Amino acid sequence: MWGRLYEEYHKKAYNPIKVSAEVQKLYADPYVRNRRGIFEYILGGSVDTKLLEVRVFDDATKKSVYTKQTSTAEAKGESNCPHCAIGHDVNKGKVWKLDEMDADHVAAWSKGGATSASNCQMLCKTHNRAKGNR
Ligand SMILES: [Zn+2]
Repeated sequence: MWGRLYEEYHKKAYNPIKVSAEVQKLYADPYVRNRRGIFEYILGGSVDTKLLEVRVFDDATKKSVYTKQTSTAEAKGESNCPHCAIGHDVNKGKVWKLDEMDADHVAAWSKGGATSASNCQMLCKTHNRAKGNR
């Protein structure tokens, strides 16, 4: 693995102080589950959060956020996916089932957003995928 990483990245210039500070920050981050992915994540430009296996929302959090979001949406006659609700297609008023939705960080984890209920929103699977890997 290190051989491959070296081959892939040694041609780029990195600021070792910056890299080391970022490594330490990620090692201390309780949301990072795969510490072995930290170097590759940083060397790759700190974009591919899959390498870190950032902790995801647990089912209890998803369910409580879903319930709250759905009752608010139903009261307004809107979709319980906030992105569908502001759209203009047939899904504007669609109420998705829990298993048709995925949890999303409102503030991206990579920008300091926590994996807690207050930073969780449920999006339909299409919109969650469209939002990309964050
Ligand atoms: Zn949607």
